[in-house]
Amino acid sequence: MAQPVLLGVDDDPDILAALQRDLTRRFAVDYRIVTASTPEAVLAELDVDDQVAVAIAGQWLTDTTGPDFLSTCHQRYPSARRILLVTYGDYTGGTAAVRAISLGQVDEALNKPWGDPELELYPAVSDALSRRRRATVAAGSQPEVARVIGPQWSARSHQLRDLLTRNNIVHGFYDVAKPEGRQLLHQAGVAAGDRPIVLLFGGQVLVDPPNERLAEALGVQTKPARSHYDVAVVGGGPAGLTAAMYAASEGLATLLVEREAVGGQAGTTSLIRNYLGFPRGISGRELTSRAVEQILVMGAEMVFTQSVVGLETPGEDRLLTLTNGNQVLGRTVVIATGVSYRRLDVPGIEELLGAGVFYGAAVTEAPAVEGQRAFVVGGANSAGQAALHLSPFASQVTLLVRGTSLAERMSAYLINELERAANISVCLNTTVSGVYGHGRLEAVAVRDSTTGQTRTEPAAALFVLIGADPHSGWLADAIERDSKGFLLTDLDVVNWPLDRPQLSQETSTPGVFAAGDVRHGSVKRVASAVGEGASAVQQVHRYLAAP
Ligand SMILES: Cc1cc2nc3c(=O)[nH]c(=O)nc-3n(C[C@H](O)[C@H](O)[C@H](O)COP(=O)(O)OP(=O)(O)OC[C@H]3O[C@@H](n4cnc5c(N)ncnc54)[C@H](O)[C@@H]3O)c2cc1C
Repeated sequence: MAQPVLLGVDDDPDILAALQRDLTRRFAVDYRIVTASTPEAVLAELDVDDQVAVAIAGQWLTDTTGPDFLSTCHQRYPSARRILLVTYGDYTGGTAAVRAISLGQVDEALNKPWGDPELELYPAVSDALSRRRRATVAAGSQPEVARVIGPQWSARSHQLRDLLTRNNIVHGFYDVAKPEGRQLLHQAGVAAGDRPIVLLFGGQVLVDPPNERLAEALGVQTKPARSHYDVAVVGGGPAGLTAAMYAASEGLATLLVEREAVGGQAGTTSLIRNYLGFPRGISGRELTSRAVEQILVMGAEMVFTQSVVGLETPGEDRLLTLTNGNQVLGRTVVIATGVSYRRLDVPGIEELLGAGVFYGAAVTEAPAVEGQRAFVVGGANSAGQAALHLSPFASQVTLLVRGTSLAERMSAYLINELERAANISVCLNTTVSGVYGHGRLEAVAVRDSTTGQTRTEPAAALFVLIGADPHSGWLADAIERDSKGFLLTDLDVVNWPLDRPQLSQETSTPGVFAAGDVRHGSVKRVASAVGEGASAVQQVHRYLAAP
């Protein structure tokens, strides 16, 4: 197969020569380096079946601009990452680059000249290459730790794949109706049926395993190692992960309990664009896997596939009960259980859950809608991001919004990107009134509230992102909550039992703190959840230091 291409265009001969020299020195073994002073000349060097991995272009080119050229290039080679070269001190160029990045014409900007290529050029090109590889990696190119074999549209097949995906476990899915799936079952000596089978790397065969059983088979910790901790953190989203990281790094014996997958809602997000320090954005999975590595290095203990189902205060300590019956004591507790998606009230929708209807995460299922029509319900940022994530896969993505305008709840940069995506359409004043299909979603009925008319359209998938409710039901009366179930903290607490004033983020139970989306009044963002997780640990220190 022909080598993929690293392509460069700039009308400054010195920059062009440096680009050719530096790219060749580092990347020529794996990539064909093609550079030229004009877009026409560089494109003339390519064949129709060439793959452009990274396209690099100067801001101002003869007869066109870098962003326009990079857009054209992207239309021809959709998986190409795009880097714009901006001259130091060129304010107009810098502004145009920022605009091009926010409009999705360019992935990133790099200053030219770049001097030592190790400092700026190589990291930028390497990062672009690895992002492209992650986005386009072919199934089977990494050794699969687990293979799920089951009916394509069974809800349990989806749950198992989702669990593996969200926990960053490399796996493959094999439809039992296809020869490859049947062949694997035959090799494993298992008869085909309705229940999914998991084949593990070491040869172990699990028939529709409960999540805890699968986790244990993969070597994941599902029980606390000790009975007593300084801090027990409930929930492994951004708030809980941050609390665990800071608590452990500051010498506290720390346990984190997570019921599904680390990362919480953030882990389901295909690209977080507004988290400080990641100008090109970062996927929820990548952010999460970095966080887990960091937490383990700091020495916190993490227990998975367990929900905390009870909180009691028998004495000085707080007693947590887990689903498997294990109990642990924490001198303090940080509750970071986040929120979950609101359900659509449409007849028949529950039966199609996981069989074409999905709440939240579009990440796992996106390849499954290849060439088919997908619908996204919701008018906030998460819905906009899901639509954008689906658009390279689906033939058409329709965003169904109940409100009269996207601007009410969606960031401007996302609205711009939606407008630019050729295969995304937005229907305002629209609700879902029906879902249809035998065994899997086949069509949705949508109602236009201004005309009162309903139309039915073929649909392979419906992703619902219409808001969320807090995970606080397990607390029963242990902690005061607002009318929607969010945890009250600070001065919002009505019945505070002690004479001392409350600490920040402290709930109605002394020594129990809340952080992130589950807290009343929280800002529903990754950065604020991270901030609250960090500040909760400061309050834990103050609590523990008190006489
Ligand atoms: C699709 C999507 C896209 C988003 N995009 C962005 C974005 O681009 N930028 C941004 O800033 N924000 C974004 N957000 C919002 C952001 O992800 C959340 O604000 C953030 O994840 C909240 O973190 P958290 O830790 O408070 O809660 P969560 O992320 O909800 O995590 C809570 C965790 O607690 C676990 N849990 C719940 N109950 C229990 C229990 N009883 N026992 C044990 N574990 C439990 C859950 O399984 C979950 O893992 C997005 C959200 C979604 C859904």
